[in-house]
Parts: sequence; C-alpha cells; structure tokens
Amino acid sequence: MTDTPRFRDPQTRIGDLADEPILVACPRCSRCASVTPERLTCAGCALVRFPPDPDYRAWNRPIDPFFREPLWLRADCCGGHTLWAFHVSHLDLIERFVAATLRERGLGDRPGLTLVARLPAWMTAAKHRDEVLRTIAKLRTTLS
Ligand SMILES: [Zn+2]
Repeated sequence: MTDTPRFRDPQTRIGDLADEPILVACPRCSRCASVTPERLTCAGCALVRFPPDPDYRAWNRPIDPFFREPLWLRADCCGGHTLWAFHVSHLDLIERFVAATLRERGLGDRPGLTLVARLPAWMTAAKHRDEVLRTIAKLRTTLS
C-alpha cells in the first residue's frame, strides 16, 4: 500500500467519471465489458448494445449509469455495505482518499458536492480503513 497521508480533493464529480469507459459484468457472458454513454461492448463475447433510454442516468448505485448493468468492480465490505467503482481511476480515487490521514477539502465553489465529499460515512470511517483498502486490493486482482 502506498503511504499517502495527505489527500487534496481533486474536485471530481461523479459525472466526470463517465469520461472513461465504465466496467460492467457482461449481460451475456458475465465477463468484463465496458460501457460508454453510446454503447456497451464486450471483448469476451463481442456483444454490442445501445442504450435503451438515452436520457436515463443512474448515478450513485453499483450499476452503470446508462445500461444499469451490475458494475464489475463491486464487493461486499464492512458488514452489509457494497464497495463499488466505475473503473480503475475511480478505485484509485477512493483508495487515495481512504488511505489518507489528512483530508483537505478542495477550493472549488461547491466542495460538498464532489465525489469524495459524498462518499458514505462507513467507507471513510477510520475504523474501516483497513477493510476498505483490503477490499480495493482484492478488486484490483479482478482486472487483467
Ligand atoms: Zn460478453
């Protein structure tokens, strides 16, 4: 684990994460597929799908915001909670925040609305730090 005592909020908002493909479990073969606002594609079985409802967006749930497929990076954590991330950049951000012992709010205009500011309390509690970091490390092993 990297030692990152200080974390400065990079002001990422959850919607910004869709700039990178989101990893989901393929609805056909259950392997790792990727989702963009335009399409779902699976390298494992060559599935290609287009969004059922272009206006639909579901953020802040362990599903992708466009197709509502279960995220690839999700795991039970800390007794009944689900730790989830859209992709490895999202996982990195959570890890850096949770690992930090000094967390600084950013200087943006609405700091309370950033992704890390909205992480659930169970995830950011000091007593859960080790388990959350272990779960993140486990999720990394599912990425090839
Ligand atoms: Zn597939």
